[in-house]
Amino acid sequence: MVLALVPVAEWMALQKALFRAGVTLAQDRAAILEAVNSFLEQLARQLAAPEDIGASAPTLEAEGTMSVAECAVCLDDTCEVIFVPCGHMCCCIKCAELVGQCPLCRADINQKVRVIQP
Ligand SMILES: [Zn+2]
Ligand SMILES: [Zn+2]
Repeated sequence: MVLALVPVAEWMALQKALFRAGVTLAQDRAAILEAVNSFLEQLARQLAAPEDIGASAPTLEAEGTMSVAECAVCLDDTCEVIFVPCGHMCCCIKCAELVGQCPLCRADINQKVRVIQP
């Protein structure tokens, strides 16, 4: 059984926010919510894992593939924009404004939805 990590209240708020942002296709919203959910899942796993922050052993970054929230374009800022319809969350707000196609899968971007971290 799969449990959504986002509380229902936030989930509904997110749905409404997406609708207001012009993402009116249920299919598009589903793709975005899926992307957000997997992102939050990764985030939760990261937060749950390490307790060695005070141990001065910064091995966390080396063992992961890459930082979850790193912009794929500038590799500098954190990701905060989800592209519709592909659902990738891979750009910071600055780079997202510049691209017309998803930098990961090269899908045309119809909407750019900013995600606010809780
Ligand atoms: Zn960027
Ligand atoms: Zn994409």
